[in-house]
Amino acid sequence: MMQTDNPAALPVQDAAPDAGRHSAPVNAEVRRSLTGLDRAGLSEALSDCGVADRALRMRTSQLWNWIYQRGATSFDEMTNVGKELRTALAERYTLTRPEVSDEQISNDGTRKWLVKLDAQSAREVSPQIECVYIPETSRGTLCISSQVGCTLSCTFCHTGTQKLVRNLTASEMAAQVMVARDRLGEWPGGEERQITNIVLMGMGEPLYNFDNVKQAVEIISDNEGISVSKRRITLSTAGVVPMIERCGTEIGAMLAISLHGVRDDVRDLLVPLNKKYPIEELMDACRNYPGLSNARRITFEYVMLKGINDSMADARELVRLLKGIPAKINLIPFNPWPGSTYECSDWEQIEKFGEVVNRAGYASPIRTPRGRDIMAACGQLKSASERVRANKA
Ligand code: SAH
Repeated sequence: MMQTDNPAALPVQDAAPDAGRHSAPVNAEVRRSLTGLDRAGLSEALSDCGVADRALRMRTSQLWNWIYQRGATSFDEMTNVGKELRTALAERYTLTRPEVSDEQISNDGTRKWLVKLDAQSAREVSPQIECVYIPETSRGTLCISSQVGCTLSCTFCHTGTQKLVRNLTASEMAAQVMVARDRLGEWPGGEERQITNIVLMGMGEPLYNFDNVKQAVEIISDNEGISVSKRRITLSTAGVVPMIERCGTEIGAMLAISLHGVRDDVRDLLVPLNKKYPIEELMDACRNYPGLSNARRITFEYVMLKGINDSMADARELVRLLKGIPAKINLIPFNPWPGSTYECSDWEQIEKFGEVVNRAGYASPIRTPRGRDIMAACGQLKSASERVRANKA
């Protein structure tokens, strides 16, 4: 749900109630899915079915394990749950996942899924978001979305051109992982584990959806379930400075900052949020990031844009800004999209830029673009979701 303490609350869309926070009527038409709920949500569902007191904790644990450890899609599978309770659950709830309305597989093995979410109000058309799985030799990364669309309007990012924006619930974020595991067949008894890392780098600004992201990270990292540890979950932000400290203390995932510019005039243009939270404030927040150490470095993302932010002077300024921050710099070749006005820096320039940063003692890998052919690379995600016109309600 949208939070009240959000320093830059979304200007659009009604806040929607979090699924799983309401008792469910016994009505097959409106059965809601338990997929993606946290333990409290599952306990509520069980209470609705008459489970109480000491049994509640044990049953919640069982349900949790069936859903998140084994990927159950039917209550019938739950052999250690009594028939009566299974029937009561099935009368009120389902275990269905959001529908994957499209799957594209890149020639480099990257997969992109278009995931259709449930409408949260009568006025909303089911919104769609994208998530991407990127296989590498020693790991597999799932990139999930935290919002439908994005309000930030970074000028080099395709998602920023999308009209519809709303926060995803925690269950909608966790459900992306469930859907990916279904598609990759990696539940027990199936394929080996492929998703080793999760990045909140899809559509949206995670720190504008703090509470839900926090809850989703708890669900995903729970070691009795999906069990991807917080050290392997990275949250990427465009720099919502007032939320960065809480991100460290309350969420505790790895942090990535979309820096992209080293001077305020340039960064104002690329990441308009910079006008609100300029570079100096952002770097201070990073310097004071809770838990920061050489073992827990901040990743700085830097999109390479020809003639805009890629000079040697920019590289030297970057090094100066990073002073005192245990950091790694990801140089991202710009991924074009239809209508984008920027060009990617020449490869040689990216390498020279990287050398300056590297010589100053920072790891500065150049990120290989993945899934460009299916528009699955960084900043290329944009679903066709449209904002509902008022007269269509
Ligand atoms: N809102 C968050 C997360 C989403 S963007 C953030 O800003 O960090 C994930 C990353 O992709 C960010 O670093 C973003 O700046 C980068 N990105 C966006 N568009 C891009 C493009 N066209 N080419 C390369 N990287 C891009």
